[in-house]
Amino acid sequence: MRLILLGPPGAGKGTQAQRLVAKHGIVQLSTGDMLRAAVKAGTPVGLEVKDIMDRGDLCPDDVVVAIIADRIGQPDASKGFILDGFPRTVHQAEALERMLRDKGLELDGVVELKVDERALIRRIESRVKETLERGEPLRKDDDPEVLKTRLEAYRRQTAPLIEYYREKGRLRAVDGMRPIDEVTDAIDWIFSKPSTKPSSL
Ligand code: AMP
Repeated sequence: MRLILLGPPGAGKGTQAQRLVAKHGIVQLSTGDMLRAAVKAGTPVGLEVKDIMDRGDLCPDDVVVAIIADRIGQPDASKGFILDGFPRTVHQAEALERMLRDKGLELDGVVELKVDERALIRRIESRVKETLERGEPLRKDDDPEVLKTRLEAYRRQTAPLIEYYREKGRLRAVDGMRPIDEVTDAIDWIFSKPSTKPSSL
């Protein structure tokens, strides 16, 4: 199974990716997680992207494309993967297409998690509250001002991918406002086609 999860920040891409990983034995490739790890480790890539990520802007295409190209080629990705947070621009999507073609691989599909923006802001606020209650440090990009920039980046640079994949007949939309289990069932249904259609589709 090779999928892309598409949706604005806070849409639940990470949560759904983790569930699909546990169920299907494939890997989650989150460029956000990989970039945060690079920042934490102080690698050259980390130093390059730290300020960009703190502001909530998108990192350069060539940086994320190189990270994904390397990761997709590793043995644990051979059974399949879920791309969470990549691609985020049409340029990245085109690079991914070339990358997969060169490896003789095909995407099974692109899942768009459709969410209401106001609800999304509430969701991120409650994530912030829960994190603070656990006594854990906040992700800098969960700050409300940064979130605004991230949503703007999504609208301007990532949302055009919805049309891009729709035109290719790849796009499957799921109601991301449904309870987490129902969203997982809906994604599973799309890729297994059992007889009953879940309500979140
Ligand atoms: P995420 O955890 O997916 O929300 O990503 C956190 C941050 O990492 C984003 O706000 C961007 O600054 C950066 N980032 C993650 N994935 C990408 C990508 N595919 N292209 C550009 N920047 C990215």
